[in-house]
Amino acid sequence: DSSLHELDPDVAAAVDAELHRQQSTLEMIASENFAPVAVMEAQGSVLTNKYAEGYPGRRYYGGCEHVDVVERIAIDRIKELFGAEAANVQPHSGAQANAAAMFALIKPGDTILGLNLAHGGHLTHGMKINFSGKLYNVVPYHVDEKTNLVDMEEVERLAKEHRPKLIVAGWSAYPRQLDFAAFRKIADEVGAYLMVDMAHFAGLVAAGLHPNPVPHAHVVTTTTHKTLGGPRGGVILSTQELAKKINSAVFPGQQGGPLEHVIAAKAVSFKVAASAEFKERQQRTLEGARILAERLVQPDVTEAGVSVLSGGTDVHLVLVDLRNSELDGQQAEDRLHEVGITVNRNAVPNDPRPPMVTSGLRIGTPALATRGFGADDFREVADVIAEALKPSYDAESLKARVAALAAKHPLYPSL
Ligand code: PLP
Repeated sequence: DSSLHELDPDVAAAVDAELHRQQSTLEMIASENFAPVAVMEAQGSVLTNKYAEGYPGRRYYGGCEHVDVVERIAIDRIKELFGAEAANVQPHSGAQANAAAMFALIKPGDTILGLNLAHGGHLTHGMKINFSGKLYNVVPYHVDEKTNLVDMEEVERLAKEHRPKLIVAGWSAYPRQLDFAAFRKIADEVGAYLMVDMAHFAGLVAAGLHPNPVPHAHVVTTTTHKTLGGPRGGVILSTQELAKKINSAVFPGQQGGPLEHVIAAKAVSFKVAASAEFKERQQRTLEGARILAERLVQPDVTEAGVSVLSGGTDVHLVLVDLRNSELDGQQAEDRLHEVGITVNRNAVPNDPRPPMVTSGLRIGTPALATRGFGADDFREVADVIAEALKPSYDAESLKARVAALAAKHPLYPSL
């Protein structure tokens, strides 16, 4: 039984290098986080060896008595966390959770309404070459050109005109909260299901710092690895009435054997998410994003053509608008990478530049909050970002400031 280093030094070296990258740079990709060591321990456990098609107490394989315990714990914890009647913790990812939820609720050819990808929606909300765009008749809704907020009048108008079977509310790049009650009212008026994809903001909901979509939606999907801070994976929450349909859409509809080692890791992360420390972390996440937004609209920064979409944020991320900057999204992403800050470029609504270049950045605070960053640290990070986006910048001094922040908040010291 060799260790990874003995058996496969090539893979081990790349894993070590990735640990060093995570420790020595500042991770600000809004969809990323750092899973606790205990979560990774559960994920790296012997549960990876077990086939368990079916659900706890009703499996198609023998020897499932222990994974049944694990899966039941995960289900009970996430139901409690979000006040849901039913939960399916088996989806391998957020995309598969969305695929299964749609598979359960509607038929190929049915009409769905989803937020346009270029306006902050996700691929699975109806992008043309995604399964959602291929299987369903997609009618996209948008953000308002002036406010950059989701245009609820348009949602209502499109719903009445196209009579969708499903309305998807949720986003991958949007700095504000959605009005779930208004979405549900529109869905009810046209006889559509409402599905909320809370992948990005689930951690904020768990901490009570963002409205909970569960009371409003027929189905709520999420990933477990973003603000929620767990292993990579997906979950579907639903009413009891829909639970059977959802379960059969996940297995055997979409997947075979569940990843019980990942489900164990999900269970551990749901325990963490119910703690007071987690709530305090989410408060720092929100405060960090607010500080970032404030400091990126100071006059010396806006002079460089930088601004913030919607003028601020209510969540864990800020969308930087570079339409008036000489830097495009790619160049800005590269500059921040050069000084040790990882972000992703992101299209802004009606972006004049092509999708591989873009005119925006999406910058998130969850991973740094997990690392222990507080208000003073986020002020320093914001100022480093602001300096890096100006026409002339001193890369060496910014690198040193990033290194100092990384050293102040060690990541995974035990690894
Ligand atoms: N839903 C939303 C809103 C997302 O932002 C994402 C991922 O970025 C997903 C679903 C898909 O999650 P996964 O990458 O686990 O398939």
